[in-house]
Amino acid sequence: MQSTDVVVIGGGVIGCSVAYQLAKKGVSVTLIEENDIASGTSGACDKAVLLQSKNPGLHLKMALEGVKLFPDLRKELDMDIEYKNDGGMIVIYTEEQWKVMEQFVQRQNKLGLEVQLLDRDRARERQPAFSKDIIGSTYSPMDGEVNPIYLTLGFFRGAKKYGAKAILGTKVKDIKLEKGRVHSVITGSGNILTRHVVNACGVYAPFIGTMVGLDIPIIPRRGQIIVTEPVASLIHGDVNCARYITAKFRPELLGNDEASRLGIGLSLGQTKNGNILIGGTREFVGYHKHTTHRALRAVLKHATNLVPALKDISIIRSFAGLRPYTPDGLPILGKVRQIEGFYMAAGHEGDGIALSAITGKLLCDVITDNKMTIDIDMNKLSLERFEEEDIDGFRKSHNCYGDAV
Ligand SMILES: Cc1cc2nc3c(=O)[nH]c(=O)nc-3n(C[C@H](O)[C@H](O)[C@H](O)COP(=O)(O)OP(=O)(O)OC[C@H]3O[C@@H](n4cnc5c(N)ncnc54)[C@H](O)[C@@H]3O)c2cc1C
Repeated sequence: MQSTDVVVIGGGVIGCSVAYQLAKKGVSVTLIEENDIASGTSGACDKAVLLQSKNPGLHLKMALEGVKLFPDLRKELDMDIEYKNDGGMIVIYTEEQWKVMEQFVQRQNKLGLEVQLLDRDRARERQPAFSKDIIGSTYSPMDGEVNPIYLTLGFFRGAKKYGAKAILGTKVKDIKLEKGRVHSVITGSGNILTRHVVNACGVYAPFIGTMVGLDIPIIPRRGQIIVTEPVASLIHGDVNCARYITAKFRPELLGNDEASRLGIGLSLGQTKNGNILIGGTREFVGYHKHTTHRALRAVLKHATNLVPALKDISIIRSFAGLRPYTPDGLPILGKVRQIEGFYMAAGHEGDGIALSAITGKLLCDVITDNKMTIDIDMNKLSLERFEEEDIDGFRKSHNCYGDAV
């Protein structure tokens, strides 16, 4: 039987980041991926390293610590991850939204996020393509962007460079425990003896949990994105709208029209090649990953209201990905008390790209029993915080067993 110190299950941005940090520390690590690297949510998402969309508190603190790691990663990884620190804006359409964002900004400022409110003219100076219908926007110079697929591949190649093994196209079928601790991992191509397993399976993390008797509250939240043909520079940095923040944290406040039922909140960004990514939805439709005409039309309506020039640009494709959503919107990270040697690194919802680097560092510290190099309260991220949660109720009320819509 093969053996390794740590098995990381999942070759998305999170699993690859954890494997990278462990291998860099000299730990013997094997990454197992059912399909290919970045074949899950990490290859079907946007590219924002967004701070402004994080709830002021632990969420924002993690993002602020995490973003500090990107400039070094750009140098360390043997891959152009296309990281740019070119700022982000949240567009405001109504006086009511302005008041809400004013408070949000104040709370964010207190935690160290540089962000300010811009009136309509100043917002349009930054983004001349915006329509005059807006009231203003926020602006943070700290928001950034990265190519999520290159980032994932960069972590993966980095891990291999430091000696990590990878088994791709292979599904983890079971995990064997002995006297309450991890003993081995059973895969489609043989068994691996190990004392540590990291569950980095995104929306599939609950299936790995079931193998060791854990009920993990992560459910899929679909997001649909439209991609345009490449065009000359039109969108600068990350653009979201105030509805995006509401759709993310308080969807119940959106109302009951079509756009609200689809959880539409605008996200716009332009890739290095010039393609514009237009998003998106936040829908609870189980594990269905197809796009729908209905949602794409609603997303486009919203986007062309803000940037009328989009009407003259051709769409080349659309895709959907599944955000791993938890009851409190925070990821589940670190040791799992009941099973020695079992760790969680999943549930990052719409923030996994931005939080990937810090997740790798935190998990590496925990697994190697190092003093934590980043000051984050891991208890607040543990699986145990959901001990009192009605997890089956959570799944049912969020349509986890999913009617296709
Ligand atoms: C539309 C959309 C837009 C987004 N935009 C952003 C953004 O702008 N910024 C941001 O920070 N985040 C964004 N996100 C969120 C981000 O994409 C996710 O949080 C992140 O990709 C999750 O990564 P992961 O590694 O946990 O999961 P995944 O990338 O899904 O990786 C999990 C892997 O586990 C594998 N796996 C599952 N079961 C097994 C098994 N039994 N054996 C072996 N392998 C297995 C899967 O094949 C998969 O490859 C967005 C998400 C969506 C859907």
